Amino acid sequence: SQAQVTRQERLRALGQMASGIAHDINNAIAPIGLYAEALLENEPGLSERGRASLQVIERAIDDVGATVARMREFYRQREPQLMLSTVNANLMVGQVVDLTRARWSDMPQQRGVVITVQQQLDPQLPSILGVEGEIREALTNLVFNAVDAMPDGGSLILRTSYQAREGAGEVRVEVRDSGCGMDEQTQRRCMEPFFTTKGERGTGLGLATVYGMIERHGGRIEIDSRPQGGTCVALCFPVADAAPAPPPAAAPALPLAPL
Ligand code: ADP
Repeated sequence: SQAQVTRQERLRALGQMASGIAHDINNAIAPIGLYAEALLENEPGLSERGRASLQVIERAIDDVGATVARMREFYRQREPQLMLSTVNANLMVGQVVDLTRARWSDMPQQRGVVITVQQQLDPQLPSILGVEGEIREALTNLVFNAVDAMPDGGSLILRTSYQAREGAGEVRVEVRDSGCGMDEQTQRRCMEPFFTTKGERGTGLGLATVYGMIERHGGRIEIDSRPQGGTCVALCFPVADAAPAPPPAAAPALPLAPL
């Protein structure tokens, strides 16, 4: 449809802009990271405080790098390299908890804030068919959003479960926080690319990326949120068919759903 074409053109233009911005940011942060690392390694006379500050700088630079990578990833032409494999969602959750530790453990603690993280994993969870890197990226975005929503601490629960549905069942992966929640207008718009309530600190691409991922996986997303009442984002994936999955090397590329 006309609306769809316009939307795709707009996204392409935004993509070009985003990739230009990503390039500039990478150039700007590279020397910051390099000098912080060099100081930490080559200056034995640094005070404890100086050392701690440099470590925070290093970690912040890592985070910026990861954000830029996600922004790039969002627009990359994915079809050719996209390979499906059977994926264990429990494994993805565990890996994402490890990958994001600096954001919910170390950084908040430096500010005297406590975020408890709990994994509630269904041991009998069936496999899904998908792209591991994309699923990890999406869950990482959800964890970052949850942490952002709890500046004074709180609880983060990652939960997996199986839901029988007519036909094949679904694997449900929930990321639940006890944070600030969303008002009605934010809930309505939160998945739009570039919609953010975080001002300069936000890209507005987190949930848009998650949405693109779940669409490509033939699944759906549910968001349950209330102002001051926390947020639960659930990703529902169709379970892998009873038939064995094709070997990853020979697997067909995922069809790319229009954004
Ligand atoms: P960003 O995090 O860069 O703002 P997102 O697309 O990930 O971009 O999120 C868009 C907006 O949705 C956020 O700015 C925030 O207002 C809202 N949001 C997303 N996740 C949560 C959450 N867990 N709790 C409260 N608000 C959220």
